[in-house]
Amino acid sequence: MSFFVFILGTILGSFFNVCIYRIPEDESIAYPPSHCGKCNTKLKALDLIPILSWIFLKGKCRYCKEKISIQYPLIELLTGIVFTTIYLRFGFGIEFIKYIFLMSILIISAVIDLKTQYVFFSVSLVGIIGGILFAIIEIFMSKNITSILLSIIIPLVVLGLIILLTRKFEGMGTGDLEIFILISLYVSPKVIVVSLFLSIIFGGIVSAIIYIKGYRKKHIAFVPYIALGTYIAILFGENIFNWYLSISMF
Ligand SMILES: [Zn+2]
Repeated sequence: MSFFVFILGTILGSFFNVCIYRIPEDESIAYPPSHCGKCNTKLKALDLIPILSWIFLKGKCRYCKEKISIQYPLIELLTGIVFTTIYLRFGFGIEFIKYIFLMSILIISAVIDLKTQYVFFSVSLVGIIGGILFAIIEIFMSKNITSILLSIIIPLVVLGLIILLTRKFEGMGTGDLEIFILISLYVSPKVIVVSLFLSIIFGGIVSAIIYIKGYRKKHIAFVPYIALGTYIAILFGENIFNWYLSISMF
């Protein structure tokens, strides 16, 4: 079953590559079918096997020998690993579907942010609509409307406070906040707190390294750190939160 989930992840990862390339170019993600960026040859099934095609073709187009970015197999592998670990943690159920959907949105948004320094609202919007649908499903399943409403309202209040407090310091961009708001639709308040905390630590460490090394970039892509922080928070967030509470008792 884990192997099947991994394969599913790599196939969807292959589709995410298409989204990552086409969304910033304002192209349709459904049409035309996958083709080589250089010679325009339509790719056949054999060229589209996740990870393996890239390895067998030694990272080159079969037809014109143009180099194919290693980003393609890496995104496929990454998606496969993320899906498999979520399956191993939660088993097969609504949580699994909800979290792989959230992580899919985050992977696409994170890589686009890395490449372009922009957060695309079209991607966030799919995540927000999905999050609302999952929240509705969970209300019907658990019939515990209060806890679900709280899990949406608390993060929004916390985020609102952060926006107010960091306005002076040119903190996160509005795109990053948009991403946090969509995450809050999927996860519990504990998990969002851990996610926010980890994202700021990871982003802070990397910013510090960039600063020490003397590079001065105007803007660092922050969504990759949010995606990584959220991934760890989904898998271990409740444990990290409870561990923190237990050590802060002393
Ligand atoms: Zn080609």
